[in-house]
Amino acid sequence: MSDYDIAVIGAGYGGVTLAALCAKAGKRVLLIDKNPQAGGKAMTIERRGYRYEMWPVLGTPASGSRFHELAAELGVEDQAPLLGPEVAPGGVGSYYKNAAGEWRIAAAQTQVGSDPMGMVESLKDVYGATDDDIAAMGEMFAALMGTSDEELDALDEMGSLQWFRSFNLPEPLITFLAALLNYIFVAPVNRIPVSETIRTLRDLFVGTGGRYAGGGFGRLAELAADYVVAHGGTFLTNARVEKVVIENGRAVGVATNKGEFTADAVVSNAGIQPTILKLVGEGTLPDDYVKWVMDLEPGLAFVGVRYFLDAPVFSAGLATAYSDQSWWDDERYAAAQRGEWPDASLVFVGATTNYDPTLAPEGHQIALLGTLGSPDPKATMNDEAIRRLEATVAEIWPEVSEHIIRREPYSASQVASLTRDSVVPGAGGECIGLAQVIGQCGRSKPDPRTPLPGLYLVGCDAGGYGCGTHQAVDSGFKVTAMVLEDLGG
Ligand SMILES: Cc1cc2nc3c(=O)[nH]c(=O)nc-3n(C[C@H](O)[C@H](O)[C@H](O)COP(=O)(O)OP(=O)(O)OC[C@H]3O[C@@H](n4cnc5c(N)ncnc54)[C@H](O)[C@@H]3O)c2cc1C
Repeated sequence: MSDYDIAVIGAGYGGVTLAALCAKAGKRVLLIDKNPQAGGKAMTIERRGYRYEMWPVLGTPASGSRFHELAAELGVEDQAPLLGPEVAPGGVGSYYKNAAGEWRIAAAQTQVGSDPMGMVESLKDVYGATDDDIAAMGEMFAALMGTSDEELDALDEMGSLQWFRSFNLPEPLITFLAALLNYIFVAPVNRIPVSETIRTLRDLFVGTGGRYAGGGFGRLAELAADYVVAHGGTFLTNARVEKVVIENGRAVGVATNKGEFTADAVVSNAGIQPTILKLVGEGTLPDDYVKWVMDLEPGLAFVGVRYFLDAPVFSAGLATAYSDQSWWDDERYAAAQRGEWPDASLVFVGATTNYDPTLAPEGHQIALLGTLGSPDPKATMNDEAIRRLEATVAEIWPEVSEHIIRREPYSASQVASLTRDSVVPGAGGECIGLAQVIGQCGRSKPDPRTPLPGLYLVGCDAGGYGCGTHQAVDSGFKVTAMVLEDLGG
């Protein structure tokens, strides 16, 4: 008999969701992470009097999410209350630099979806939309809500930018939508499939965006790992999986720096490329599968800085800022790589203490700032991206510099070392996982069941859809069902 029914490599949101649900189903689960705690890219740490994520992490949708389902399944709703932006003073704030170079501020209550009339007013006031433009936006919205599931499948191959442009929207409204997709998918807008966009924007319009959790975004992951232990499983921390153990053409366990463990199924949350190319290694799987995995494209990075402030500078819990030049499609990303940058950065600010003031000493604010960057842990362009991000932030919030107590930049190299090993040149520091682009989404998304019997993938690279962490938890639910089915319930 194996040591465990299921060994899970990685306690990111995909891994912990699957581990906890399998433990709930009565399976003997081994959950392993190289870090000292659960949460992966969305981990919350405690250091020098502050509790915070390593970068801005806010969830979409805010209500009715897979996070709510997970908390309910584990019975931990009270221990990590999921908080929508309405609890944060200032809610959601968005700033748009118009063609005249003036920053226009959308009122806080006009967060996407929660207030349709407020949103129309904001599109007119901030983006200069006319009644005809609003009608065109309405047409797009009707198409978005009215597309059937079969029609959606056919839209796996169409790029979202092209689709938005087909509604004859003016450039400022294209910016509004393209920036939104950059924040949600962190990928070039021209190649994000319309199917993925429609599925995700529907969730956003129904459930709004900007969810956080009391005690930190990673709190639910910690509780899920605790749940595994409370239900007879093991959570092995500071333990790196070095190899998937294979016998007679089947995954039968894992070799770690803390010993070898056998399991009937091995589920990896470490990313498809690190799992197949490093933990399994070449020579076991069909060459064409290995080559296909090697050629998969990582998403773009989010890079930026953490500010610890001695006063609340940011009034909104979630703030965004951009101009018509800030969002990235392939062309603009290539331009930035050549050193041609937009007039303003695409800014994302998560002021997490606006949601939960207990995360910092009284009166202090934690502001996690991010912008688009390269996923290559060695990319030098990311330093410039951070410099420009801070310059744009200082333009909008000039008082911020007087209140910074600590300033901690982060970049693709930190993302890779905390979470995903860089096993393919140019990859590892991606924000989410595999790029959610045509050829890697919808029906083309990697199958969580790998060609190696007994080995599965969970997390953002396989099995789910949607925005970052939500995609990981969605994958956790779906891959759990597959693994339990294969193990016979
Ligand atoms: C800068 C930044 C900003 C982001 N902002 C948002 C946001 O606002 N909203 C949002 O929803 N998402 C956001 N995301 C994305 C989101 O955090 C991720 O998409 C999601 O958390 C990924 O979950 P996962 O389960 O796929 O994997 P991960 O979180 O990557 O977890 C993988 C886990 O596997 C472990 N691991 C890897 N290899 C091994 C090994 N060999 N042995 C043992 N353990 C191993 C890692 O330590 C890690 O804990 C952001 C990400 C970044 C980097």
